[in-house]
Amino acid sequence: MEHTEIEKIKCLIIGSGPAGYTAAIYAARADLKPIIYQGLQPGGQLTITTEVENFPGYPEGTQGPEMMEDLKKQAERFGTEIRWGTATSVDFSSFPHRVTIDENKVVEANTVIIATGASAKWLGLPSEQKLNGFGVSACAVCDGFFFRGQDVAIVGAGDTAAEEASYLSKLCRKVYMIVRRDEMRASKAMQHRVTNTPNIEILYNHTTVEILGEQGVTGVKVLNTLNNKERILDITGFFVAIGHEPNSKVFKPYLEMDKNGYIITRLDSTHTNIEGVFACGDVQDHIYRQAVTAAGSGCMAAIDAERFLANKGLH
Ligand code: NDP
Repeated sequence: MEHTEIEKIKCLIIGSGPAGYTAAIYAARADLKPIIYQGLQPGGQLTITTEVENFPGYPEGTQGPEMMEDLKKQAERFGTEIRWGTATSVDFSSFPHRVTIDENKVVEANTVIIATGASAKWLGLPSEQKLNGFGVSACAVCDGFFFRGQDVAIVGAGDTAAEEASYLSKLCRKVYMIVRRDEMRASKAMQHRVTNTPNIEILYNHTTVEILGEQGVTGVKVLNTLNNKERILDITGFFVAIGHEPNSKVFKPYLEMDKNGYIITRLDSTHTNIEGVFACGDVQDHIYRQAVTAAGSGCMAAIDAERFLANKGLH
């Protein structure tokens, strides 16, 4: 590693979704001079969605990417410094905390707000990995366009899968929805929408055996778990919408997490087990996972950070 002077920061925010930007707005207004490292997906998961209709304050709804652009501008307006870069390792063994960015820059922060969110889960099939980006995708809104007029399949049975199946049904000729149980987890309203869309066929009690194709997807082999019969669906696009996992690996040596890797925060706060390290948004929330709850916990993290610094006489 190149030897450079270590930058000292009062408040470092890692991640730039609704949690990170809201933390930044509050921290900047409290004069903590926050610096955000945006991470691998600047703007977070909302940048790969379209309509957001449930964020309060937008009576007609808004577009995810636009909302994130607005949040970014609001954070910048109060003096947040927004930088490209991802935290690649941390050292929380002593105070102040050390965070390495992109494996080459080390910053020393009195407070660290972790807002790294969550990422899409995959089935784990070798064929899925092989064809990822060649017909296999975890984001219908990003990639559905490429399959206009074609037949596609989507696996999953939660709100995301239902929402994405519905989105795809408007672009594609036919959408197979592969559901592993005999019912969906999605809300009743979303279930109603997909079951009433003529070009969506729901395959209950089905699992994915293999995605077929060499240079691109040509089909998917599915198994009916009730009668143990396999069948091939002729499709060119395969979408995975089976939930998310928290982006917390880099903090694993230091922070308490649950068995799925969600960072554990102290009751009614964003404090982690390490003094001066706070977590907010989807990286610590496997229950609500909404933009508005992420934003709310981002606000809490900034307030917790400000109080921590004040108590330490550092602000
Ligand atoms: P969920 O965890 O709610 O659902 C994941 C789905 O994937 C489940 O149906 C699960 O099946 C299925 N699944 C998991 N692993 C596999 C596997 N290996 N093979 C096949 N199927 C699998 O994730 P979502 O991303 O759908 O939703 C996350 C949260 O976000 C939820 O709280 C949801 O309500 C919310 N949300 C809200 C929206 C809105 O309000 N507009 C839109 C999108 C999401 P099983 O049911 O059998 O466990």
